[in-house]
Amino acid sequence: MSNCVFCKIRDGEIPSEKVYEDDLMFIIKDIDPKAERHFLMIPKRHFKLLSEMTSSDTENLGKCLKKIPELSDLLGLENGYRLIINQGDDAGQTVFHLHVHILTGQKMDFPHL
Ligand code: 5GP
Ligand code: ZN
Repeated sequence: MSNCVFCKIRDGEIPSEKVYEDDLMFIIKDIDPKAERHFLMIPKRHFKLLSEMTSSDTENLGKCLKKIPELSDLLGLENGYRLIINQGDDAGQTVFHLHVHILTGQKMDFPHL
């Protein structure tokens, strides 16, 4: 997707604070953090919505999710974390490349992002 900010970050065309990368996904610090620590886990393949994914794509997404607790030390997740996927306008999705917010480093006492 030529005009997608996360594809550009993936391809190194836009700088980011990348904290982890493997063959399926990468994790960056959110540019505008909504929690004490706010990461974005971004699958490398461009999808706008979960509904666009095949079952093999969602299997890959599952592998990406499974990786998050394995990165507990790197991301500082020991006291807990919250994962959020915004889908579509009503959810406030602003970047239409599917991604998972990882919020951590504080009590989650706020109702939404
Ligand atoms: P959404 O609202 O689509 O669920 O989340 C998009 C997230 O991407 C927002 O939290 C926003 O701060 C973050 N974001 C947008 N552009 C950039 C960027 O260029 N770099 C980084 N690191 N984060 C970005
Ligand atoms: Zn993209």
